[in-house]
Amino acid sequence: MARHEYYNDDGEAERELCPRCGDTFLGDHGDRKHCGKCSYTEWE
Ligand SMILES: [Zn+2]
Repeated sequence: MARHEYYNDDGEAERELCPRCGDTFLGDHGDRKHCGKCSYTEWE
């Protein structure tokens, strides 16, 4: 299974904020990102 680059130079996971909530991080599911709060889903 291909591994994506989840980490930046500081070794911390790069996580995108939900564009709808603004204060909630999107969960990474490999080929998509999902907000558990409002169910927003973003495909890569
Ligand atoms: Zn959200």
